[in-house]
Amino acid sequence: MKRKTISCAVLSLLLAFAALSSGCASSTAPAVSPSAISATAGNAAQDVQNNLYQRFSRTDLSAFDTVITLVGFAQSQADFDQAANEAFERIRSLDHIFDAYNAYDDLNNLYYLNLHGAEGPVEVPEDLFQLIAWCKSQWENGLRETNIAMGAVLSIWHEYRTEGIQHPESAQLPPMEALLNASEHIDFENVVLDSEKQTVFYSDPDLTLDIGAVAKGYAADEVAALLYQRMPSFLLSLGGNVYAGNAPMDGRANWAVGVQDPDTSNSGTKDILDVHDKTVVTSGDYWRYYVVDGQRYHHIIDPETLMPSTKMISVTIVCDSSILADFLSTTLFVLPYEAGRAVAERLDGVEVMWILPDGTIEATDGMKDYARSFRKT
Ligand code: ADP
Ligand code: MG
Repeated sequence: MKRKTISCAVLSLLLAFAALSSGCASSTAPAVSPSAISATAGNAAQDVQNNLYQRFSRTDLSAFDTVITLVGFAQSQADFDQAANEAFERIRSLDHIFDAYNAYDDLNNLYYLNLHGAEGPVEVPEDLFQLIAWCKSQWENGLRETNIAMGAVLSIWHEYRTEGIQHPESAQLPPMEALLNASEHIDFENVVLDSEKQTVFYSDPDLTLDIGAVAKGYAADEVAALLYQRMPSFLLSLGGNVYAGNAPMDGRANWAVGVQDPDTSNSGTKDILDVHDKTVVTSGDYWRYYVVDGQRYHHIIDPETLMPSTKMISVTIVCDSSILADFLSTTLFVLPYEAGRAVAERLDGVEVMWILPDGTIEATDGMKDYARSFRKT
């Protein structure tokens, strides 16, 4: 079994997240059914005043190699637990489907697909098919910086990074020749989809998929959709992917979501975004990396250079769809600022904050409405 380890940076991000959204619940309210919760969800401030809703939270480390935190308002611990159990069950099921390292009985998951995809069309679970088809349509539309068909290249980086983290004294860069050879096998055209049969076929036997750039985004959307039905208000964090539901029921108009300070020795936040009914996703160069000869090499690879992209320190996206935000955070991390800005301006309802290597912060106009640092000036 081979899994990634949860990075300290992700943990500290979540601690910041927990601090920003902190608040405790006592469980004295009478139990009511979840349908009663959603029926009265419109009058949040009043309900909190009447002490109808309380705040609960749960943290879980058992899926997506990351820290998952759910904060939610409910009328009782039992109501919260019922919704949270469903949410975490869905997350675990998606974790198995998207797992690239382990097989599960009777499940044609990503691991199975990467092993057998070139032998013939493989029928995969709907979630996996949808995710691949969505990414392929982005690729067909010309957004190719996030290429999930780049598994051949990414697995080499993953191997050297894992080795380099375990044995820092002998950490090495992958040989460029190996990366170039692998880059012959990253053409998304060779991932053949049949939506009727829900099958995937690799017409290049050396191609594999790595869905790390979007899997948490897809999962966040799915779980958020479920939570909207079960809780009047929630805040979900799946690693760097945050989904903020309706405004918190403590009278505030928004949830506060931190953008991590790239200088992780500060373990603080660079900015705070006030949002509701939005997802917030950040890709940064300070999350998963290793060090060779004093230089950091992180986990977001530019398909052009086959090396970690150095144009950005972090990119944060706010929009309605977490898979789109996850996809774009990686894409705009790789693109130069001007090109990324042009992509963002083309898309309705997508707001972006870039932190550039010299420390400059750029943001779309709409982002300035969310970000406290911009609202102050
Ligand atoms: P995180 O996983 O830290 O949230 P991202 O969403 O940016 O960060 O995804 C990075 C992951 O995506 C990497 O760990 C790798 O598996 C994969 N990846 C890296 N570069 C690319 C790329 N150019 N296209 C597609 N996937 C990528
Ligand atoms: Mg991403």
